[in-house]
Order: sequence, then C-alpha cells, then structure tokens
Amino acid sequence: MIRPVQTQIFAVIGTPIKHSLSPLMMNEAFRVLGLNAMYLALEVHEPKKGLETLFDAGFSGLSVTIPHKETVFSLVDVEDEASKDLGAVNTLKRCSDRWVGRNTDWIGIVESFKRRGISVAGKRALVIGAGGAARSAVYAAKAMKMDVTITNRTVSRAVELGKHFDCDVIGFEEINKKGISFDVIFQTTPAGMTGYMERPELPSIVFNSDMIVMDFVYNPLITDFLQHARSKGCIIITGLEMLLYQGVAQFEWWFRRKAPVYAMKRILFKSVGVHDHG
Ligand code: NAP
Repeated sequence: MIRPVQTQIFAVIGTPIKHSLSPLMMNEAFRVLGLNAMYLALEVHEPKKGLETLFDAGFSGLSVTIPHKETVFSLVDVEDEASKDLGAVNTLKRCSDRWVGRNTDWIGIVESFKRRGISVAGKRALVIGAGGAARSAVYAAKAMKMDVTITNRTVSRAVELGKHFDCDVIGFEEINKKGISFDVIFQTTPAGMTGYMERPELPSIVFNSDMIVMDFVYNPLITDFLQHARSKGCIIITGLEMLLYQGVAQFEWWFRRKAPVYAMKRILFKSVGVHDHG
C-alpha cells in the first residue's frame, strides 16, 4: 500500500478527460484555503481496475464523469438516496477500507436555482433529453417540487425515463404543433456543444420572458439555444453553474467545510473568457 503522508490527492476519472475544468476549479479551492491537496485529471478506461489502483495509491477522493457514472455506482457502496434513484454516482470518498459514493449532479442543478434566488415550486418543467444528464434534471426538478414533462429525440427513451420517475412524456411534434408552454426548460442534450458533430434536433420552444432556461452544455457558455431564450427575455442558467455547484458539494463532502465558492466560480468563468460573472 502506498500512502501520501503530506499532500492529499484527488482526481476526476473518465474518458475523454483532457479538457475537464474540474482540476482548475478544485486546485483553486485548495489554493485559496491553503490546503495541502492536489487534484488531477486521469484518463481511466476500466473503472473497476482504476478504482482499485487509485485506492491502493492512497487517493482521498474522486470525481467520476462520462462514461463511468453508472458502472461505478454498481462497484461501490452509496450513502445517499439520489444515487440509488439515479443509478449513478459522480463522487467517491475514501473510507477506511473502501470507496463510498454519492451523487452531487442534481445538487448542482438545485443550487444553480437557489443561489440565484429563483423559486420554482409548482412550476411546469420540460426536460429535453433522456440520458444521464436528463435523469439528474428530472430528479432535481422533482426535488424542487416542479411538475415535470420529458421529451427526447428517441421517444422510447423518454417513455422509459418517464416511467421510472413517474413523469409525463411529450413528443417534439406535439410541442411544435401546439406551441405548448412551460415555465422552466432543461436542455440536457449535447446538441450545440463545440465539436459535437450531430445536427441538433430539438423541439421548437416558444420562449417568453416569464421562462427560465437552463442548458447543460457549457462549451460554448452561451449556446444557440440559450442565446435564443435570452433574446426573448428568459432568465438563462448555463451549464457552468451546474459544474460549479456539483463541485462545491463534492468539496464540502470531502473536507466537511465550506467551499470557497466565489474563488471557484471566478476561475471557472475566467477560463471561458467571462471576467464579470455577477
Ligand atoms: P447521454 O447519456 O449520451 O444522452 C444524450 C441525450 O442527448 C440523449 O437523450 C440523446 O437523444 C440526446 N441527443 C444526442 N444528440 C442529439 C442531437 N444532435 N439532437 C437532439 N438530441 C440529441 O449524455 P449525457 O450524459 O446525458 O450528457 C448530455 C450532455 O450534458 C453532455 O453535453 C454533457 O457534457 C452535459 N453535462 C453537463 C454537466 C454539467 O455539469 N454542466 C453535467 C453532466 C452532463 P437520443 O436518446 O435520441 O439519442
């Protein structure tokens, strides 16, 4: 067994991982608090082997990202209800003899609303997408007491998700045809992400100034979808805020102390060219 005795070591594991912003955010948190800790980005292809190796090497905590969240869930003990409902974990903490997992993705979404002082209880939410990110969005929207409807390019996947979380499902055509309006939209697909080659296939939303629109993509920070929503007066929430607050929750679980949110936010937004983020 190898054990770091001075510096605590953390990492984000996934593939591809080269462009992850998590090391920037976490190392800044360690720096401003003067913690003797470091955070790495590690390309891991075989999660089981990866977890064993990193445990033996004495890592204190891990962030888990695409495509390993579901596999890692099946490999570790989890201690929160959210992970069980989502079937995925994004955070691991070292315990004496094993990794313990949690899910903070949904917290990242809830906090993005809370920290803006936005109250959404009783509002109608539309979740676009039916993958892992959509699951977190549905879970978070329900935790915020919203009435949730799901739509997806492949309807059968939306139906499956709807069954799991007991939500309504609607097809793109129905939204396009009737111009049905929602109070909150969660765009959870990679459509619009820099470098993503597939043509975006999203429903035609009739935006209005009473709506709140969140896009999970943060590269670019303001997607075409958010741009359109903003031009119609909607409140917009970027994927970078979700990334920030899921990271804040990870930090606070690992260290059992308040995270330096402002410093983490400042460096994240600076990295995408925004210096005045409010
Ligand atoms: P996933 O499990 O692969 O699901 C992708 C979803 O997007 C599916 O519903 C898929 O529809 C839909 N989709 C894919 N390409 C599309 C297109 N061109 N037009 C319309 N729909 C399309 O992926 P995921 O894990 O949910 O991640 C989705 C996005 O969320 C990624 O861009 C990821 O980076 C982002 N994300 C951001 C954060 C954050 O902190 N901001 C956290 C997690 C994820 P089909 O079912 O029809 O294939």
